[in-house]
Amino acid sequence: MQGNSNESNRLLKRLRALMEDDIAPQMRLDRLVQEIARNMDAEVCSLYILRSDGMLELYASEGLNPKAVHRSELRFGKGLVGSIAATARPLHLVNAQHHKAFSYLPETGEEIYTSFLGVPILRSGRTLGVLVLQNRNQRSYSDDEIELLETLVMVFSEIIASGNLPTFLRSNVEMSEQTPFSLEGNSLNVGISLGYVLLHEPRVAVTNIFNEGSELELLKLSEALDALWLSIDDMLMRRDVATDGEHREVLEAYRMFAHDKGWVKRLEEAIRNGLTAEAAVEKVQSDIRACMIQSIDPYMQERLSDFDDLANRLLLHLLGRHRDTLALTREQNSILVARSMGAVELLDYPREKIAGLVLEGGGATSHVVIVARAMDIPVIGKAKGAFSLLENGDFIIIDAEEGYIHLRPSLEVENAYRERIYFRDRRKKNYRDLRNIPTCTRDGVPITLLMNAGLLVDLPNLAESGAEGIGLFRTELHFMISATFPRAEEQEKLYRTIYKEIGDKSITFRTLDIGGDKIPPYFRDKSSEENPALGWRAIRLTLDRPALMRTQLRAILKASTGRELRIMLPMVTTIAEINQARDLVDRELAHLIRFGYDLPNQIKLGAMIEVPCLLFQLDELMQVVDFVSVGLNDLLQFMMATDRSSSRLIGRFDPLSPAVLRALCEIIYAGKRHNMPVTLCGEMVGSPLTAMALLGLGFRRLSMSSSSIGPVKSMILSLDVGKLGKEIQERLSSFQENGSMRSMLADFAFHNNVLL
Ligand code: PEP
Ligand code: MG
Repeated sequence: MQGNSNESNRLLKRLRALMEDDIAPQMRLDRLVQEIARNMDAEVCSLYILRSDGMLELYASEGLNPKAVHRSELRFGKGLVGSIAATARPLHLVNAQHHKAFSYLPETGEEIYTSFLGVPILRSGRTLGVLVLQNRNQRSYSDDEIELLETLVMVFSEIIASGNLPTFLRSNVEMSEQTPFSLEGNSLNVGISLGYVLLHEPRVAVTNIFNEGSELELLKLSEALDALWLSIDDMLMRRDVATDGEHREVLEAYRMFAHDKGWVKRLEEAIRNGLTAEAAVEKVQSDIRACMIQSIDPYMQERLSDFDDLANRLLLHLLGRHRDTLALTREQNSILVARSMGAVELLDYPREKIAGLVLEGGGATSHVVIVARAMDIPVIGKAKGAFSLLENGDFIIIDAEEGYIHLRPSLEVENAYRERIYFRDRRKKNYRDLRNIPTCTRDGVPITLLMNAGLLVDLPNLAESGAEGIGLFRTELHFMISATFPRAEEQEKLYRTIYKEIGDKSITFRTLDIGGDKIPPYFRDKSSEENPALGWRAIRLTLDRPALMRTQLRAILKASTGRELRIMLPMVTTIAEINQARDLVDRELAHLIRFGYDLPNQIKLGAMIEVPCLLFQLDELMQVVDFVSVGLNDLLQFMMATDRSSSRLIGRFDPLSPAVLRALCEIIYAGKRHNMPVTLCGEMVGSPLTAMALLGLGFRRLSMSSSSIGPVKSMILSLDVGKLGKEIQERLSSFQENGSMRSMLADFAFHNNVLL
């Protein structure tokens, strides 16, 4: 069938009739796969259903060896079928045997089939199974045919969700429900939690799939869209959301997407192809997800969360239901599990009941992760398949220190984690008690501990952690969550609010570090660079777009009336860049003076040391700036030629190696020669052992994430930094091996009772 809409409608009708026939469940599945095989011109049509132990079981097949049905199984995420389930994307291969993930099940007799088309069976965004077509010859399916198959498999999603499966199999499923199961992911905010799964927005189940007439469904859609748009307007007008802050930006972007004409058109088309309005929403959302999920562009990933949320809200309107997250969050220790989630949606849940967050996607700069971090919620991201494998109410442990999710853990595992939590909580309380004690080493050297921030939601952590100020304010995060370029007045208002919130503590504003992995939505100049981290980003970009930089500088200058203003430039490579930036600051200053504005009482301009070539012009650098700050994340990435986000390379090269420590020493020496304050920032500084090494080298100002302040302070209070400094210098000059100084540092801590 070539996707002809009359024929498709006839086929849909036949399938619907089969669904209503009074026949045994297995026979129904067998007939459905036969019917699809015949109409889709396939020699094989096989249905795999995902069990809760993570296995995809062959449930019905036309064409494969019948003895393999209910005996063959494939692991979720493995092989062609497993990866379709994990990615929730169709896969079409004219020659499947050449694909790297190809592995065949000998008992099925499928080795003779060359071409392959598999589509996921989805429901409310969860994978329930996979339907596969195979042919001996190199059969190629058109986009229309693939689309048709995706519509047809909604029949199976209805059957699976209704639980109307062959009975002897359910006992199989129940048996497997006892088995412990672990999933891996990335830790995006550290912490450990035990609790009960709460699937984010999973229950907008669509039961009515094929329409009886398109006109009525189109009308329903149009009414639901009107209601959705109105409700978004209401949300924007709510007083608690309408005030300052990032949430408002996110909502504005969201409103724009709700009115996206392309989205509405696709929904209408799906209805004209025979679906009900609600099935159309689900179908279009699966398509959008399939296209966007593979994108590495963080902007696309954020937009995907917006579309997921919109689709869910639209479904609620279509089905006449309301979202009540408070009622959903019955358990005290709820662990939210989401395919994707927008930051606003996390704020919908009562904080006191949320013990953790598991995302199938997500990265360190995802909006929801940034907000979760500010709310101190442990987060695991990139947990492929979690949303499909976990059920509401499942007891799980999330270990967001190592990046594991344990489902149905054994008693021993559970007890071990409870013990870890007990000790960690005791330490947390101790850190809180340290907040008001001056940060000074055991041998009397004062240390300045600062925190990194980037959003208003981070600011309460300043008082909470006891940090002396904000050593790095990543101004680009606000730009990242805005739907449009933040206007001058809006920027000024934001910076004023920040000053007000931090009281008399200090803050260092970093000018826009966009480009690379941080591209704002409205910034369409995304010329695809092969190595964006080495490309047109940060100071390079803002100097080429002086209006952008001048607007930001003017806003910061105006907001810092009567305060000390510290401006820091990211990714500096040459001294000329600093001179150019200083010219821009001077021009803005002259403008403000001319128009009689009140000025900051001091202006300090600093540079980040992130590009290794600055290490060879430290004297020149320190003559043109007022302070420097080492950006250890990027400096290491470029010194070691190691992508900072590559999970494959984590742990391969140790930052505590003599080569790195010697380079950092040069910065300290230069700082001393020029009497220049040197700060060091970057997430790695938050590890007490790394912080100890840096203090041993001579750093006295460290900026890190707020949750690391307590552990690092506790280390500092117990450290004799003079003694450590001598030992490090001795070892550094005589170090023969190529490896790391980590064990020497750990030995020092152990023998000198340093609390790590
Ligand atoms: C760094 O590179 O170390 C740094 C602090 O900046 P960012 O992590 O924002 O790139
Ligand atoms: Mg950096």
